Parts: sequence; structure tokens; C-alpha cells
Amino acid sequence: MNRVEFAIVPDEEPHLEINVDGVPLRELARRAELPSARADRQEDLAGAYHGLTGLEAVRWPSRHFLGRPALAGEGPGETALLGCDCGVWDCWPLFAKVEVSDETVTWRDFRNGHRPAWDLSGLGPFEFERGRYEAALRATAESLSVSRWTGPLGFGAACPERPTMGCRHAGAGLAASAERSAADRWKIARRANQTRMQMPAGRRNSSGSAFPTKE
Ligand SMILES: [Zn+2]
Repeated sequence: MNRVEFAIVPDEEPHLEINVDGVPLRELARRAELPSARADRQEDLAGAYHGLTGLEAVRWPSRHFLGRPALAGEGPGETALLGCDCGVWDCWPLFAKVEVSDETVTWRDFRNGHRPAWDLSGLGPFEFERGRYEAALRATAESLSVSRWTGPLGFGAACPERPTMGCRHAGAGLAASAERSAADRWKIARRANQTRMQMPAGRRNSSGSAFPTKE
């Protein structure tokens, strides 16, 4: 059995972080995605996720993590566990199928929402004891933090950190980035960086992750 923790991080933009067996899920995702991202020459996109914002949709008593996803993928039970590190979840989602039985909750068939060719078979499946899983979820309701995120959740929604087209993932679902030229990606990254530099430090992305550099 695996062990899960859900934690609300009450920073500028409160979000829900997930640990599995004591390791951040996005770090586990980064390790699994690295070979595919390297093959695409986009190494820094591996694990470039962020905890979900829009807390009221996903925190207890929402059944989002119990097979009735508020932020859903395509198949039955396919659930967004993490979103984009710009704060717009479906700009770069990590999906898994969440299967709920009386005794267990299982996360399997992980998938990046915009890289169907990436092989995430190295991530999961994870199986949790249902009682402990729900207890971990209930803790998200008791958290003192209150989401200040009031914006829309849909694809192409205005990005809370920077304009949507400034996000390095923008358009990921519209054009395979393998086909996007390095020059285009550089332009997008530079625009994102410019926007970022205009923001006060407190508004910067909490992950502190690097943007792509010119190749
Ligand atoms: Zn984004």
C-alpha cells in the first residue's frame, strides 16, 4: 500500500500539493517524464506541474479525488491531480484514473494532458487504503487557508500570473510542440520572462522553476 498526503499551501495563490510516500507527486512525475521530455529536447517540461488552485472544487467535501472529478480528463474517472505551474490547471495537467472500491483507492494510467506520446508507465500505479486516504482528504477541509482564486478554470482562461499566451505551455494542446521551432519556443519563453520580471517578487511563480533557455 502507498501513502498519500494532501496539503493546502497557503501562499499568494493557495493550492493543493500531493505527496506519495513522502515524495511530492510532481517530483515523481518529473522522474518518470524525464526520458520522454529529453527525447523531445524539452527537458525542463518534465514534472513542470503545480498543485491545483481553485481549491473549493477539489478540497473536501468535493469528491474530486474520489472518482467524481471536478477537473476531469477524457475517460471514466480520469482526474487532474496536478496542473500547470502558471496556475491554469488545464494548460499542463497531469491526469490519472482514480478507481475507488470499498477498501482501496487506486491511481493508475498516468498521462500528461498535452503530450500523448510521453510514456508515463514508470509512474504508479499507486494503491491507497481508503480509510486513510479519506482521512488525508478531510484534512484539506480543516485547513485555515481560504482560496483567493476566483478566476475561471477553463482552457485558455486568463492566466493569474501572466497572460495565457505568455505561459511556456500555451498552445501546447493546439500544436504539437515537437513541431514548434526552437525559435518559437524561445520567443514564448522570453515573453513569459518579461512578464515575470514586471511582477513584484511576491507574485512570482512559487516553484521558482527555470524557464527554457535559448538553444
Ligand atoms: Zn500554463
